[in-house]
Amino acid sequence: MRQLSGFGAKSEAKMLEGIALYRRARGERKLLGDVMPVAAALLERVKAAPGVVRASLGGSVRRQAETVADVDIIASAPQAGPVLDALANAPGVATVLGKGDSKCSVRLEAGDLQVDLRVLPDEDFATALHHFTGSKAHHIRLRNLGHERGLKISEWGIHRDDGTKVPVKDESDLYALLDMQYVPPELREDTGEFEAARAGTLPKDLVTLEDIQGAVHAHSTWSDGRNSLEEMALAAQALGLKYLTVTEHSEAAIYAGGLKEDDLKRQWEEIDRINAAIPGVRLLKGIEVDILESGALDYADSLLEQLEVVIGSIHVRHGMDEDQMTRRLLAALDNPCLQILGHPTGRLINSREPYPVRMEEILERAAERGVAVEVNGKPARLDIKAEYVRLAVKLGVRLVVSCDAHQKEDLRNLAFAVATARRGWAPKGSVLNTLPASRFISALRDRR
Ligand SMILES: [Zn+2]
Ligand SMILES: [Zn+2]
Repeated sequence: MRQLSGFGAKSEAKMLEGIALYRRARGERKLLGDVMPVAAALLERVKAAPGVVRASLGGSVRRQAETVADVDIIASAPQAGPVLDALANAPGVATVLGKGDSKCSVRLEAGDLQVDLRVLPDEDFATALHHFTGSKAHHIRLRNLGHERGLKISEWGIHRDDGTKVPVKDESDLYALLDMQYVPPELREDTGEFEAARAGTLPKDLVTLEDIQGAVHAHSTWSDGRNSLEEMALAAQALGLKYLTVTEHSEAAIYAGGLKEDDLKRQWEEIDRINAAIPGVRLLKGIEVDILESGALDYADSLLEQLEVVIGSIHVRHGMDEDQMTRRLLAALDNPCLQILGHPTGRLINSREPYPVRMEEILERAAERGVAVEVNGKPARLDIKAEYVRLAVKLGVRLVVSCDAHQKEDLRNLAFAVATARRGWAPKGSVLNTLPASRFISALRDRR
């Protein structure tokens, strides 16, 4: 391969790394964002089956993990048969892998995805749902806690030492039996939730999708998006969003149709027209400005100062070393025009490793300077990831959850940004786009 002209040892190494990532991804774990729509549709089908009392997704899909291996659905009904049939006969099922009295497993045509459905009497629903939600590490701790209290916790329910079954109506009953706060599925990873839930210090106001007032980070046909600004505005309105930040690429991003200063000013006129014509939703004038190699931003301060929302992102020169990349990002954070640091690690799940950067230093500087950090909800990005969200929250960094939309359907990426924020224990108060538009804009301007 090195003989091919233009491929040095470095690009060869990079390509091998890419192939390794691809191999790991293939046939293994799939992006949550790819699986969720399929899982949600099957859940609706199960819910509509005869006799169903309750039904829920389980497993890593319910915990909203970045990637998932398969789909679990748990349902309660007096008779399992008709519910199992609803899955076996669902459109898109390639093979029924197995069907018993209470369980059915199928493989879908799309994405080679396995779906397991379990149907139980309603009195067993909560403990079964909890069991099949996981994670394994969370359950091990939970069982030990139960054991200390003379309770045997298993897939079959909770039993006392004398064999009597403890009634459990829902999952909060289960945690109450162990003198704990309810632990939301996204937090069930044994990364401190037990200590917090027993001390009563789990965040009670974890951010939810319903808290989000506006969508951050959207492209249109003005740069590399597929829909017009008007179509984007109408889609945001239909989702009940109060605002959408229009953040096209800047001039240096030639490959992505980056805007020159004149283009940007013409875009403002179009935004004003749309805002006057479409009620209930407001387009905010913004930019996703490239962070250049030096850490400088791709537009003059005098132009950036006229914008309502300034996201700064790295799109090229990912190959810098950790020192260089850290310095590049710190310089950008020191620019008083930068309001939001976009997709801060540049990773693409299953296809591109994050660039090397000292994230703790970056997050500390962001907190110090009052720069918000993006939790990008594009399913292949989820950047920053949940572990960094947790660090950011601890350091007092302000966050935005974003959709990084390149078409109107991508507005739904907000759900995956919120999921990542929740997995990082982010309370509503740490997320700026839970604020109405005017307060959101003034919060972004509140730089230090
Ligand atoms: Zn970007
Ligand atoms: Zn973007």
